[in-house]
Amino acid sequence: MLYRKKEISGKWAFVNENDEPICDFIYDEVRDFCENVAAVRIKNKWGYINQKGKQICEIRYDKADDFQNRLGVVEKEGKKCYLNQKGEEVAVTNFLNEEMVFEGCKSCAIGNHTITNLPGGYLYEDNFINVTIDPEVPIIGFIVIGIKKHISTTTELTRGERIQIEDITNRVKLALEYLGAKNILLFEDGFSEHYRRWIIPSDDWMFQFGRGKNLKKITMYAKKNMTDKQKKECLLFAEKVRSFFESN
Ligand SMILES: [Zn+2]
Repeated sequence: MLYRKKEISGKWAFVNENDEPICDFIYDEVRDFCENVAAVRIKNKWGYINQKGKQICEIRYDKADDFQNRLGVVEKEGKKCYLNQKGEEVAVTNFLNEEMVFEGCKSCAIGNHTITNLPGGYLYEDNFINVTIDPEVPIIGFIVIGIKKHISTTTELTRGERIQIEDITNRVKLALEYLGAKNILLFEDGFSEHYRRWIIPSDDWMFQFGRGKNLKKITMYAKKNMTDKQKKECLLFAEKVRSFFESN
């Protein structure tokens, strides 16, 4: 099947051989299909659609290269990331600038140790929970509590599992306080496909993003601005949290 780019009043879509659109005219730019996937742009964000005209991922990347060898290279907050033809991220760049490769869900891959180059490693782990530092965001004391269950919201957790998460959260908080962290913030991710809980000690520089402390802006700032020295401190801090968990 041959698809052609078409523009109507400044917005782009693809049409088939009969001039019928396969998607809505909502794109500011579209590029030709490569390996059955086309890069599309809305405002300043890129994503991909397949030949059914369906978006295979969110239109949220700063750059998107044409597919090659069944992978699309995109850029997110200054870092490279690789998508497969289902639109799933299969590799991301960690804050040590190494590619972490995985299949499917990244949180599951962390949970089942498919990712072997996780910065800081595992700070705590049992049959349900894994505690790590955020592999992509170099903020000292940024701890991620992950669960080994691919669910998106806490409503799918059992009471026992919820208690386990609270217990670990409390131990992380104690560890951070013991290591001098103050004003510890807790964020939950119930929007992506795999539930996670983030614990971050608040730091003065975060206040430029308002009292509400927008997590997205904080993590973007950290990815762009943290120095190698600060990244080393992140790893050192992770080591201290691990020791705390081992001895308490
Ligand atoms: Zn998962």
